[in-house]
Amino acid sequence: METTDVAVVGAGPTGLMLATELALAGVRCRVLERRTETPNTTRAFAVHARTLELLDARGMADELLPRGVPVRAISPTPGATIDLGEIDSRYPMLLIVPQSGTEQVLERRAREAGVVIVRGAEVTGLRQDILHVVLQLADGTEETARYAVGCDGAHSRVRDLLGVPFTGTEYATHILLADVRLDAPPPEAMFAETSAAGAVIVIPFGDGWFRAIAWDRQREQVPLTEPLPMDEVRDAFVRVAGTDFGMLEQRWSTRFLSERRQAAQYRVGRVLLAGDAAHVHSPLGGQGMNTGIGDAVNLGWKLGAMVHGWAPAWLLESYATERHRVGAQVLALTDAFTNLVLGYSRVRKVLQSAAVRTIVRVPPARRALLGRLTGIGIAYPAARGSHPWTGRRAPDVVCGSRRLYELLRDGRFVLVDASALGLAAEAVADAAVVRTTRATPTTRRPDVLLVRPDGYVAWAGEDTPELADQARAAVARWCGTEMRVA
Ligand SMILES: Cc1cc2nc3c(=O)[nH]c(=O)nc-3n(C[C@H](O)[C@H](O)[C@H](O)COP(=O)(O)OP(=O)(O)OC[C@H]3O[C@@H](n4cnc5c(N)ncnc54)[C@H](O)[C@@H]3O)c2cc1C
Repeated sequence: METTDVAVVGAGPTGLMLATELALAGVRCRVLERRTETPNTTRAFAVHARTLELLDARGMADELLPRGVPVRAISPTPGATIDLGEIDSRYPMLLIVPQSGTEQVLERRAREAGVVIVRGAEVTGLRQDILHVVLQLADGTEETARYAVGCDGAHSRVRDLLGVPFTGTEYATHILLADVRLDAPPPEAMFAETSAAGAVIVIPFGDGWFRAIAWDRQREQVPLTEPLPMDEVRDAFVRVAGTDFGMLEQRWSTRFLSERRQAAQYRVGRVLLAGDAAHVHSPLGGQGMNTGIGDAVNLGWKLGAMVHGWAPAWLLESYATERHRVGAQVLALTDAFTNLVLGYSRVRKVLQSAAVRTIVRVPPARRALLGRLTGIGIAYPAARGSHPWTGRRAPDVVCGSRRLYELLRDGRFVLVDASALGLAAEAVADAAVVRTTRATPTTRRPDVLLVRPDGYVAWAGEDTPELADQARAAVARWCGTEMRVA
């Protein structure tokens, strides 16, 4: 007899986001977390535009925005600045907010939605059959669920227990991380500087504390176990950037070894992997937490559909296909950034920097880079012959008095109908899975969009005589329900 529908292992941002998604889908969910306390240190601080849109699609973006500092332009290499205002999003920014702040918003939502978060629950064993997954905990008890998801971070026990290889390598340079107070902070919301001595970044937490990050050529091989005093951080800043910004006080510091690895499989039977358990990479580009939240939003509704029994056979597997591809793209992007900033070959760095400046000058190339960095450009593969919009991120279409991303907040598919036929006027058989809405016709997008609960286009159609049949087929394929169209 199962204790829950889905057991989520790990209460980091990925596990908490997944838990809120499962609760929204009406699925019983227990989060098993090894730690007894929430951590007071932070790793991620950059929340990208697509993540803000996904949080908006669940009504959480407005809660997160006041906790952060918006950055409106970024500079991937000296002499090249990209204005984030160029992206077609409600959130044309990079929001600097401590990971703990994002986790607080997610945890509150999860608890409000009835998720049980069990702290002090360390998963040590796992077995599964065709109906259940049994997780063994360090205290000798067991949890039985219909599905389990390992959101247990880079050193995932779940991944090890499944025997899934975590393929990749580690970077040579140790990163210095410190939370400091500054007497003379930089004027920019995000300061970055590189030189022959290394690279440094300063990010404000908004409460008087700053995250100082340094890649120091002289100190890159100091053992990770050696304490990191503030003087060492200060020295790295002076050599790389010519200033320590008046470093006054340090509350936390560590040396960090970054890796570039991806799980060979995201799914083994009834157990799935998400977040850092599935992919780790350089922190440059601020992609890790964002990708984990993206995994969770892709997976939640699909698992919900499995538990409720309306999922088509291929749906759960599509999580692995879609998100493994995104993970591989993120590894490639962050690796390119890392080589650009920290590469040893001077000639290669000069050439790469020139290439980035060219990319930034050419609008289509710049938009492509922005799309990958902000997550706005993430799209899922579509079947051959599909409408070109299939798999793309759905824009925030105005639907009468509301926006599409407001309509998505109850976790259903949305059929956005701007066709002359008026499909939306017709009843959809299973209103628990899909809702319909009218939108104003425009040449800028297809006449009808079937938008998945995670804000991606499942199907798109144009006003042709076949439209009603095509829409009916798409709803049957994706939503497992019949749509009655006159
Ligand atoms: C220096 C640095 C800067 C970064 N900056 C950014 C950034 O700006 N933007 C960004 O998007 N990302 C950034 N990242 C990456 C980001 O921090 C991670 O990608 C993110 O924390 C991953 O979330 P997660 O929930 O998948 O895993 P985690 O946050 O690692 O959470 C995993 C959870 O699982 C629990 N757990 C582990 N094992 C078990 C077990 N056996 N049983 C039960 N529970 C278990 C852990 O206690 C933990 O709470 C940065 C990382 C670093 C190191």
